Amino acid sequence: MLPFKLVYSDAYYLPIGDHVFPAEKYRRVRDRLISTGVADANDFLEPQPATDQDILLVHKPEYVNKLKTGTLSPREEMELEVPFSPELVRAFWLAAGGSILAARQCLTDGVCISIGGGFHHAFPDHGEGFCMIHDVAVAIRRLQRDDKVRTAMTVDCDVHQGNGTAAIFAGTRTASALLPSSSTSTVEQPAGAPRGAANQGKMRGAHAGDVFTISLHQHNNYPLYKPPSSIDVDLPDGTGDDDYLAWLDNALSSGLRQFEPDLLCYIAGADPYGEDQLGGLSLTIEGLKKRDELIFRVARARGIPVMVTFAGGYARNIEDTVTIHSNTVVAAKEVFAR
Ligand SMILES: [Zn+2]
Repeated sequence: MLPFKLVYSDAYYLPIGDHVFPAEKYRRVRDRLISTGVADANDFLEPQPATDQDILLVHKPEYVNKLKTGTLSPREEMELEVPFSPELVRAFWLAAGGSILAARQCLTDGVCISIGGGFHHAFPDHGEGFCMIHDVAVAIRRLQRDDKVRTAMTVDCDVHQGNGTAAIFAGTRTASALLPSSSTSTVEQPAGAPRGAANQGKMRGAHAGDVFTISLHQHNNYPLYKPPSSIDVDLPDGTGDDDYLAWLDNALSSGLRQFEPDLLCYIAGADPYGEDQLGGLSLTIEGLKKRDELIFRVARARGIPVMVTFAGGYARNIEDTVTIHSNTVVAAKEVFAR
């Protein structure tokens, strides 16, 4: 039995047919967690779909109406990059409901993981990059509306920049500026990290409103236009475990020096993996687990509740994607079991 809950439904499955997005990964992660004894049936909570009012806390009425009536233009459907269907709309409403439940539950348990969600490329008025509805933003806005949290921080470790998140929470920002980096780390550079190699990346910062957004991503990758997050870390192609972990540590300490969140939303993309088909970084499965541990350790040490969603993962071998996502649960179990 886990010291926290997992949010999951068989209806998380995205009905998109044969697609680079492995829609069945959610069920496979659930099955893996049970078959390896990491979790049992009692650890899972079944989410309810978000209400339209919840979705409208983030998304424009015109866009929501188009989704509900199936009237996206061909161009809008093309941008979404997944085939539109009413079933797909239901799956995204459920993902948003799952993220609301996970955000609420982590306030009690310290951590909660939704075996789904993380659709960080959805904007208020359109969807793109496989993302129709920004489930994490909906969860934050719903908890703020219910007076459960005042502020939140998103930490987006998907290989693709969190453009939807940045746009939704843009608030009042100043222009981006380079931030001091390696000297501000709270931990030592990982042993064996090539000297100064981390400086090949770039960390940009801008002031935030009530939600502070951090994105670590491959610079030379989708989305072409990257609206400024509170902190963006633009990583060069081929960045490996040690440099990545040093940058993550830097970004987290810098963010938490500037901002005190009531809730941390960790977007735990599996696509910084070296074998990913849509990513160009070189993290290993072990490095990705260390990434998860780092975030959980920081959140736990500071008493910040953390909710987790899975976002992307397109490994050549789907079993690797399942392992990386399952390891996020294992990492949480190790850090929070005490
Ligand atoms: Zn991604």
